[in-house]
Amino acid sequence: MDFSFTAYEEEFQLDLTQRLARILPKNWQDESYVINNSNEKWLHLAEEITKDLSKDRLLTLAWPKKYGGLEETNLKQTIFNHVISYLAAPINNIAGIQWIGPTLMMHGNEEQKTIYLPRIAEAIDKWCMLYSEPTAGSDLASLQTRAIKNGDNYIINGQKLWSSNANFANLGLLAARTNPEAPKHKGISNFIVPMDSKGISINPIEDINGNKNLNEVYFDNVIVSAKNLVGHENRGWYQMASSIDFERSGVGAFSNAKRNIEKLVTIIKDNPNIAKNKKSARDDIADRWIELNTGFNLAFKIPLLQDAGINPTYEASVSKLYGAELTQKIAQTGMSILGMDGQLKNNSVKYSAADNYLASVANTIASGTSEIQRNTIANQGLGLPR
Ligand SMILES: Cc1cc2nc3c(=O)[nH]c(=O)nc-3n(C[C@H](O)[C@H](O)[C@H](O)COP(=O)(O)OP(=O)(O)OC[C@H]3O[C@@H](n4cnc5c(N)ncnc54)[C@H](O)[C@@H]3O)c2cc1C
Repeated sequence: MDFSFTAYEEEFQLDLTQRLARILPKNWQDESYVINNSNEKWLHLAEEITKDLSKDRLLTLAWPKKYGGLEETNLKQTIFNHVISYLAAPINNIAGIQWIGPTLMMHGNEEQKTIYLPRIAEAIDKWCMLYSEPTAGSDLASLQTRAIKNGDNYIINGQKLWSSNANFANLGLLAARTNPEAPKHKGISNFIVPMDSKGISINPIEDINGNKNLNEVYFDNVIVSAKNLVGHENRGWYQMASSIDFERSGVGAFSNAKRNIEKLVTIIKDNPNIAKNKKSARDDIADRWIELNTGFNLAFKIPLLQDAGINPTYEASVSKLYGAELTQKIAQTGMSILGMDGQLKNNSVKYSAADNYLASVANTIASGTSEIQRNTIANQGLGLPR
């Protein structure tokens, strides 16, 4: 398989890199290691960049034109995601762009698609994904939040957890139980929920890096119009499975890893004393570099399969698992090379290995844990028994 980009794709990558470089502050990548993604600077920059990219429909470039896209290839969308992550460019509404928009496109009715999709493309709305609950993460189908039909409305009660950016979102895609009598996979429905609805309360949770964009979301007799039901009642589980599958390449983990490895290489070249007595530093960096290149091949294979009309299944789990674990290995390599220096936020080498180390912890949990990815690979990829 040929993984090289065409001249057109190379040009797109370069143009996008230059466009973002004009907006991002000088040395932003250095600052991005310590900056908190819920602080004013990050939020302001995310607003500016997301609006700028939306003007040319770049956020949704693989979407149909009638919903605000450009009908470009999945590969080009993956190159876009790669550049954004490599430059650590702040972007709003990742959930809307990468998961919820494609879910509405597949399962929403025409009215919902016409209303909501162009607003994602134009960077008007910000969405959050309201799936996980305190006792329903890997086993999502056991979720307890209830939606009871009442005339032309549903009444929602329950609690969601780990809802990324719910505190900044104006819309949420909610999974709730509509039939408690049915087997657990067959009694769930999905709803579009305005986040300012009466009865919703949002409680941000601070993560180990000090970010405040994870949330608990409580629903206390929240009224949602039946028009906001997505697809058929009680078929929500099948929609959720497909929404988790969107943006399947997981290229961002490798792009992020590339930036980190390059930074470590530059630090060692500029400060040979740092790695002087650490015999394994060169070997470790060389190993990470090999793994990175293996990873890019895994990630870019996904859009190539999609563009060839093949639906990737376990391949996406391979890429997600490998990428998440690689980011943690690189973070560990950074800690061992920088030693005590790495634990300082504003050190002389402008690289907080500790912040990067802490940030990498969630990568093997979010969007499905590594154990769940291994289950998928074993079952679907290798045909092993459950
Ligand atoms: C940064 C971050 C952002 C997130 N954003 C969102 C969001 O926007 N919206 C949302 O709805 N959710 C979100 N989540 C939640 C995420 O999807 C869940 O945390 C994840 O699915 C794991 O669920 P859990 O935390 O309940 O852990 P559990 O499912 O309780 O798992 C605990 C441990 O048991 C293991 N385990 C569980 N079942 C099995 C099994 N069958 N086989 C082997 N091992 C198993 C797990 O791998 C894990 O190690 C986010 C999580 C994080 C960390």
